[in-house]
Amino acid sequence: MFGIKRDYILKGLDCSVCAAKIEEALNGHSSVQTASLNFINKFLHLDFKDGCSLSLDDIRNIVSAIEDGVVVDEVKKSHDGHSHESEDDDHDHDEGGAYAQIKKLIYRITAGLIFLSAAIYSKDPAAALAFYSLSYICGAYPLIIGAAKNLFTKNLFDENFLMSVATIGAFGLGDYHEAIGVTIFFQIGEVFEHYSVARSRKSIKSLMGLRPDFINLFDGSSFVKAPPESAKAGDIIRIKPGEKVALDCLITEGETSLDMSALTGESLARRASAGSEIPGGSINIDGLISARVLRPYAESSVSKILSLIEGAAAKKAKTEKFITKFARYYTPAVVFAAVALCVVPWLFMGHDFTVWFKRALIFLVISCPCALVISIPLGFFGGIGAASKRGILIKGANHLEALNNIKTFIFDKTGTITRGNFEVIDVVVESGTRDEILKYAAIAESHSSHPIARAIKKAYGAEIDESVIGAYEEIRGLGIKALIKGAEVFVGHDRFLHDEEIEHSVCIGAATTVHVAVNKKYSGYIVIADELKPDTAGAVEWLKRQGINTVMLTGDNHITAENVAKIAGIQDFYADLLPHQKVEKLEFYKNKYPGSGHTAFAGDGINDAPVIAHADIGFAMGGLGSDAAIESADIVLMNDSPFKIVEAIKIARRTRVIVYQNIALALGVKGALLILGAFGMAGMWDAVFADVGVAVMAILNSMRAMSVNSFK
Ligand code: ADP
Ligand code: MG
Repeated sequence: MFGIKRDYILKGLDCSVCAAKIEEALNGHSSVQTASLNFINKFLHLDFKDGCSLSLDDIRNIVSAIEDGVVVDEVKKSHDGHSHESEDDDHDHDEGGAYAQIKKLIYRITAGLIFLSAAIYSKDPAAALAFYSLSYICGAYPLIIGAAKNLFTKNLFDENFLMSVATIGAFGLGDYHEAIGVTIFFQIGEVFEHYSVARSRKSIKSLMGLRPDFINLFDGSSFVKAPPESAKAGDIIRIKPGEKVALDCLITEGETSLDMSALTGESLARRASAGSEIPGGSINIDGLISARVLRPYAESSVSKILSLIEGAAAKKAKTEKFITKFARYYTPAVVFAAVALCVVPWLFMGHDFTVWFKRALIFLVISCPCALVISIPLGFFGGIGAASKRGILIKGANHLEALNNIKTFIFDKTGTITRGNFEVIDVVVESGTRDEILKYAAIAESHSSHPIARAIKKAYGAEIDESVIGAYEEIRGLGIKALIKGAEVFVGHDRFLHDEEIEHSVCIGAATTVHVAVNKKYSGYIVIADELKPDTAGAVEWLKRQGINTVMLTGDNHITAENVAKIAGIQDFYADLLPHQKVEKLEFYKNKYPGSGHTAFAGDGINDAPVIAHADIGFAMGGLGSDAAIESADIVLMNDSPFKIVEAIKIARRTRVIVYQNIALALGVKGALLILGAFGMAGMWDAVFADVGVAVMAILNSMRAMSVNSFK
């Protein structure tokens, strides 16, 4: 039994610390197994315990107790796992919200500054004090309200509390400039935070821009504008130059160049003409084409990609989880340290109270954890964004982080290392004729989507009459058994013949060998060859240089496997494997290098989807790959190129560097200033730098993770 899973969107969620608290509160709830809230795109994913759930109102109550004004809505998923239309409008709405928030902050900052200058220039001390108070209130009132609201909750020690106590204290001591300075700079930091989050959301939205608005649908007499969801398989649509191809379709008329960079990260345009299959999400550059829709929108490439990106939010990197947890203990610890700092020297050593009280206030300002809490998810989010722009879909920050730890990289052969574009190169006859062998093989393979099946059907060339097939069975990793016009036909691996005790003279031919037997009598074999993908060797070479072991698994025969491994430069290979034996081999490597994220596997999902699912990091070839592979993979390579693995690892490394830099920066600067502050060597202005300055620097640094240009 599994519990219910639901997704929600939290509109108006604007505070990263609150997001962490909401997540914590939900994780602590008795009905909830796991809760995961992504602050950047505001998606909340809830896994309920068996037989439990929470009503929308319950969730709303929990959320609004922590951050007021957040609107919680459930995101309904259609059967394919992709969420509904309406939520895009929500994204729009949200972004507007972020900018409105920024505007409000700027008004407040301006008003604060005006009152501040009035105070500085006013001659009358009473008037000056009044202006100082007004200026302080402009900046501080949201902090104070926030802190007051938290007074009676578990979340007492948040940044509102820290800042309110520190600034009220400073104001009380007559340090007006410092008190006002802290609140104003704090708000400038917030402007930055809101802006960077809005920008990240926008960049992910530009990916969402894959989503086309309309199609030109043929209604029997003319082409009319219609929403992409309204088309069925078989409908005819027309795509004009410059328009986005909405659905996966097959060109029936016309010729054009297509830009598929949104899907594959590959900027080279591709020519396509009548008969070519084109995926939704590509852009028609120059020709007018008509095309037949292959599958409805919900099953199209675009909608699959979108649901993957949405799902990525739910899975957090270990570092991210660690920092959230860290912040939870760190803030109260600092508050107690501040209290001690103020009380101990005064009570027990007879020092001047005001001096130590001031130091304690400075302590509080320095200690705000915002820089960490915001910049780290932002960094991972940026890394995932940069990868998707290059045709690498990473389904979670945890996978992006794990890419740094790979020790063994295991490849499937067919379709992963090789093109999976088999060509029949020879038919060796033992009994009967060449045409007979090909015909039997082609008929037997007619239902299979295996690359071998495609090659045989292509070599046969003629139309296949499927009515002649009786009983039919595809045995994964071995071949096909079919009853054709009463004759029992075997097509497949050598082991198949041995299992069935069919006498045969040759076990393995020059390349991939597909044996054919009719009524237990050996007819001969078909030799088919495949080519290495052009960038396989380069990718393998790079992985080896990083000290990563490379391994190849295949169900194909030993000789072919050895050849391929040699040309590709792969260190170890295992041939003649059945699908479950591939899983066993993977387990072997997982045990050899225990620890999470050490064993990666890349496959096309044909006979290896379970291996993809079992690997610490499973890669699927998104173009060739089966739906099952894309579903079970952690990372999908849209253009099937093994070199994308190298890029993914490079992006992961850059992201990790950025995240670690931010942690070091924030903890380093804050740690140093806390010590200086305790000894009275850092003042309020230094504290503001430690807080806002560091947050801004960390955010700017995180935004680098998103850029594709600086990445090589
Ligand atoms: P790989 O591990 O290279 O991806 P598979 O596990 O898909 O290969 O298949 C392993 C072997 O099983 C193939 O080399 C072939 O001999 C046999 N085989 C699998 N499916 C078929 C099929 N549909 N027709 C003929 N032979 C097949
Ligand atoms: Mg395969």
